[in-house]
Amino acid sequence: MESNTVIGLEIHIQLLTDSKIFCNCSTDYIDREPNSHTCPVCLGLPGALPVLNKKVVELALKTALALNCHINRTNIFHRKHYFYPDLPKGYQISQHDQPLAVNGFLEIEMEEPLENKKIRINRIHMEEDAGKLIHLEKDGAAVCSLVDYNRSGIPLLEIVTEPDIQSPQEAIVFLQKLRNIVQYLGVCDGNLESGSMRCDANISIREENSGRLGTKTEIKNMNSFKAIKEALDYEVMRQRKLIEQGDKVSQETRRWDEESGETVFMRSKERAQDYRYFPEPDLLPLTIEQSWIDGIKKNIPELPAERKERFMVDYHLSGYDANRLVEVKPLGDYFEKAAKSYNNYKKLANWILGELLHYLGEENIGMEKSPVSPSALVGLLKLIDQDVISVKIAKNIFEQMFKTGQSAAVLVQNSGFTQISNEKEIDGIIRIVLRDNPETVQDFASGKEKAIHFLVGQVMRHTKGRAQPDMVLNLIKERITEI
Ligand SMILES: [Zn+2]
Repeated sequence: MESNTVIGLEIHIQLLTDSKIFCNCSTDYIDREPNSHTCPVCLGLPGALPVLNKKVVELALKTALALNCHINRTNIFHRKHYFYPDLPKGYQISQHDQPLAVNGFLEIEMEEPLENKKIRINRIHMEEDAGKLIHLEKDGAAVCSLVDYNRSGIPLLEIVTEPDIQSPQEAIVFLQKLRNIVQYLGVCDGNLESGSMRCDANISIREENSGRLGTKTEIKNMNSFKAIKEALDYEVMRQRKLIEQGDKVSQETRRWDEESGETVFMRSKERAQDYRYFPEPDLLPLTIEQSWIDGIKKNIPELPAERKERFMVDYHLSGYDANRLVEVKPLGDYFEKAAKSYNNYKKLANWILGELLHYLGEENIGMEKSPVSPSALVGLLKLIDQDVISVKIAKNIFEQMFKTGQSAAVLVQNSGFTQISNEKEIDGIIRIVLRDNPETVQDFASGKEKAIHFLVGQVMRHTKGRAQPDMVLNLIKERITEI
């Protein structure tokens, strides 16, 4: 029944420009004094005139081209009217019927069933963000609301898909891929928690007999992939229940309430005419030269899908490993830096995806700030390859490298963790182990091959893991035959 679910997404991404979309105010506003990054333009004071930031158009074009869109060479900005205290002009400058780009697509790979699927992009347009309201409460009761205009005029790109998405899981795969792409392009940091990437979803259930689209609801206020998945799952279930009971789904905007785990009614949905769009008289139509588009197209960096293919070919990695490495750009960058001086790529990938990600996750540190640099990790792996330390000890050393930032060589030297490769030293320990475990030795001699593993384990224990297991195994066999 899942295939009857119809989902379309509207994603807002905050563009990484230095200044706002229509004025010179800095976009570096997070954690700053409220209303410290404002001017007459972004405060919407009478008589102030907006001037379009060229960088916004450049980043928007980059995104639209990466999403296979047709670029409209003539763009018009419109006023979209609604009243909110955080929108002092009483309208938002957005784009209506002549947006920047239309008719694109993004291909996603689904695992169950295994298929590649094109999700069509209806349109991409530029607009300004509004300010932010802060509601003060005392003892659970509203006291007053404050407004901070630092965010007012931050450049946004709205990306609208066609209703091609057929399940909440598909929506998540699409969003993760989109986030990945905007991060690779360097147009947005893709942070859902801080709100620099936001997603609204339209959901409806297709009528089973007629195939007609059902009435849709719009869900807002989801600020993590987990929240999006849960909200969509909930809303699909709620609508199905209504239809089964013979009730109607009403067209409305709902918000996700994380605490109760439900979508709740916000307002009935506005229609386009409610916004009274008209062309922004203070901005000229924007004409985009073909040469500008061509130049940007030429300079689009390698995107995750291409990088994955390259990792599989150049480094002989499995599709799974390559995929995980390119998923977050800095992770792929880390791998490539290390791979320059280390050619056991599979081993390198395992350590990055295993130990490194484990400790980064545990300490909640971003890849870029890893205390173990790519060259430091290579230093450790080479010590394993040269039989200086065992894998088990290397894991221990890695933990210390992560905590202290010291190199593997220094830590190994200081800790006396070097592998014992001196046969004589190991031989002495083997003799003790054989002497102390005569029954096990007897078991092995009478054909119980597995018994030898216990003996190897005992030797490893005595050496605190500093012996090479293969060497120990061979030496034990030799000594037992001598007995
Ligand atoms: Zn300003």
